[in-house]
Amino acid sequence: MPNPPAIPPDPAAVHASALVIDAHADTPQRFVDESWDFTSPLAIADQPAGHLNLATARRGNLAAEFFALWPDPAQCPGARYALRTLTLLDAVREQVRRHPAELALCTSPKEILAARAANKFAILLGIEGGHAIENSLALLRLYHALGVRYMTLTWANSNDWADSSGDIDDPTVPHHNGLTSFGRQVIAEMNRLGMMVDLSHVSDRTFDDVLAVTRAPVLVSHSAARALTASHRNLTDAQLRALAANGGVCMVNFYSAFIDENYRTAWAEQKPALRAAHKSLAAEYATRGTPVPYHIASRLDREFAARIPRPPLESLIAHFDHIIQIAGIDHVGIGTDFDGICALPEGINSAADLPKITAALLARGHSPATLHKLLGTNLLRLFAATQTASDIVQTPSS
Ligand SMILES: [Zn+2]
Repeated sequence: MPNPPAIPPDPAAVHASALVIDAHADTPQRFVDESWDFTSPLAIADQPAGHLNLATARRGNLAAEFFALWPDPAQCPGARYALRTLTLLDAVREQVRRHPAELALCTSPKEILAARAANKFAILLGIEGGHAIENSLALLRLYHALGVRYMTLTWANSNDWADSSGDIDDPTVPHHNGLTSFGRQVIAEMNRLGMMVDLSHVSDRTFDDVLAVTRAPVLVSHSAARALTASHRNLTDAQLRALAANGGVCMVNFYSAFIDENYRTAWAEQKPALRAAHKSLAAEYATRGTPVPYHIASRLDREFAARIPRPPLESLIAHFDHIIQIAGIDHVGIGTDFDGICALPEGINSAADLPKITAALLARGHSPATLHKLLGTNLLRLFAATQTASDIVQTPSS
């Protein structure tokens, strides 16, 4: 008997049956700077609309989110990075305290699964920018004790122990040609603690240095493929292969300037004017003795971004395809950068639109089982492997 014709999988059912985990959203700043609540509508009064709240997470079947604690240097007068990091961390914990029936602060793969079973939105903590530890392993350990489960080694700024891709071409910034010996101690301590090492934002040399010393697979929480979009924030094919050999996962960033070459070049042309506008805004706020609030600065970014047509959703989908092709299906995931970016591709306006990713990838011929890995279980596996590596590192040798 001939095989019955294959019934194409139903995208909505495939998405609904997946454990969806996003590795990177900048939402915590909204809690601090806008006194915004995660259960509120996306936009309130004159505040900007964000990309993520409890309702859109539920509509998009998003089970878990890693909230980035990002001590934006511009928001840290006197270089008080730890104060800003802890203020953001406290704001996330306060959200969970206020909404115990809907939200759960999770620190392990097991807790993510338990939150899912209890129909609670799982919130996890990551630090974006190694300057948050202020060159102190004690602070690193305390962040872990407070629930932080990954750290992006640098943001766009190089710190005292690791170079960033963001300023690597700036001769006025002191660099180290990758990771310093203290940087290697940071990696060893993160491996010991079971904190994921995140290589988004780092320079190419830092990337190589970390892969040479880490004893656990690494995370790339919000980057895309440089072969398709020539941003230094994206991974080269060689880096994708090295990441696969390490057992790590590249979580694809949704930012238009990282996923579409036309958008990236158009945005680069806007940058000098945008920089000048930010400078005059900063000067205006300086007279009041305060840094420019994040939501005011990001409104300016959005105004400039709106001058460029949004890229098609297919540009984003092409990055998933490329990373699957180069690194393999076990090494790709979602790292939206929601609430940290000023431009998204067409059709993606909030977490509620995540099912469109599943539908587009199914249409490209990927299987439901494949997509479940991409949507969440790859990250879950990496998280578990980090904790296993931690157990091994801590076992005293006889
Ligand atoms: Zn970032």
